Amino acid sequence: MTRDDLTCRCCRAGLQRIELHSQRGAAGDRRCPACDALLETVDGATEVVYRLMVVPERIFDARTMRALERARIRPATLM
Ligand SMILES: [Zn+2]
Repeated sequence: MTRDDLTCRCCRAGLQRIELHSQRGAAGDRRCPACDALLETVDGATEVVYRLMVVPERIFDARTMRALERARIRPATLM
């Protein structure tokens, strides 16, 4: 098992990438749990999971969310 800490380039969420070498996973895109930005495309040879460790305040601030809903803008488009 490999663990790496990284920061999402789009929303600056703190993420942990966990790769299980002994297990096959689903092939396809891995996206940021906070903003849905593409992080990596995997081939399914190993299981790759991203966990959200530090939530970016900017996305989850309630006032910001309401303002975004009024403006009908998805958070990811602002980054
Ligand atoms: Zn993100």
